Amino acid sequence: MNDQQKSEMLDFMAKSTSGTFEKCLFPKSLCENKSVNSHSNLNTNTLDLLAKNAHVTMMKVKYNGARKPVVTFKPVASTLALPLQGLCSQHNTDIFNEIDSNDFDPTSEAQLFLIFYRTILTQLHVNMDNAIKMQTAYQIQAEQNQSDEPSQSNLDENFAVIKAFDISEFKGKLDAYYLKDAFSEVTHKIVILENQKPTICVSSLFYMDDINNYLVGLNIFPIAGNKTVVIFSFEKKDALAISLYIDSYIEKTDKQTSLLSKLVISNCENFVISQSYFSSWSLGKKNAILKSYVATLMNPEVELNNKHINLFV
Ligand SMILES: [Zn+2]
Repeated sequence: MNDQQKSEMLDFMAKSTSGTFEKCLFPKSLCENKSVNSHSNLNTNTLDLLAKNAHVTMMKVKYNGARKPVVTFKPVASTLALPLQGLCSQHNTDIFNEIDSNDFDPTSEAQLFLIFYRTILTQLHVNMDNAIKMQTAYQIQAEQNQSDEPSQSNLDENFAVIKAFDISEFKGKLDAYYLKDAFSEVTHKIVILENQKPTICVSSLFYMDDINNYLVGLNIFPIAGNKTVVIFSFEKKDALAISLYIDSYIEKTDKQTSLLSKLVISNCENFVISQSYFSSWSLGKKNAILKSYVATLMNPEVELNNKHINLFV
């Protein structure tokens, strides 16, 4: 990404994230309608399985100009959890009705594509928002510290802008598949965790390796009181290479939920924790998870070894 692209991207993000997206991001978009808030994961039944007194727990990240981001657990009304911003009401219904009004069907190519597509729209917003927050933090730090050395905030900001740019380009490809009903251009690997109480809901998009920058979608959500589904999604053309990275998460071993938990904590900014599950956590577990989350925000390669890093039961 050159300086001009970066400056254009920052300018686009600043306009798009002042409050909510002002423009509907429907693929062919000449749509003049305003965007609305809706959920970025399946229908409200999913969140009902995780909520207690209509609340769930989420992690909130703040960038305040300090070297380290500040992360806390926050109760969030389940109606406001995992928001999707970026589509007008009509297009939100037109595109996602298939997954909003039907039970999850792991054999439906259309449903799996749409779950992934919704993740991409959400992550585009989340990442643009992060880049803007980091840019603000960087500017504050740069004013306080007139050094010529690139600061950590500057490096974080550059990474955040590049990621938002990559996701924006990736969304362009998925738009084209959506418009042609070319759902089979995306491959999904699905795991159903049986005898698994509802504990988390994840909707995230991240780089699976930092050499080739493969973007992989991860969705995790309960579909019943004792069943949780895990879906990895990626472009078909990258399937062979990506399967090398994800096979260990697909295999049913004793370590499976522990590996999945580490993956979520290391890579996912957008996830919900069941309120009653969170209430059962010890202070040691809460601290270990917050500490690991911050460590991987600063360096995604960090190894997580703490015994508390498990988001399943
Ligand atoms: Zn629209």
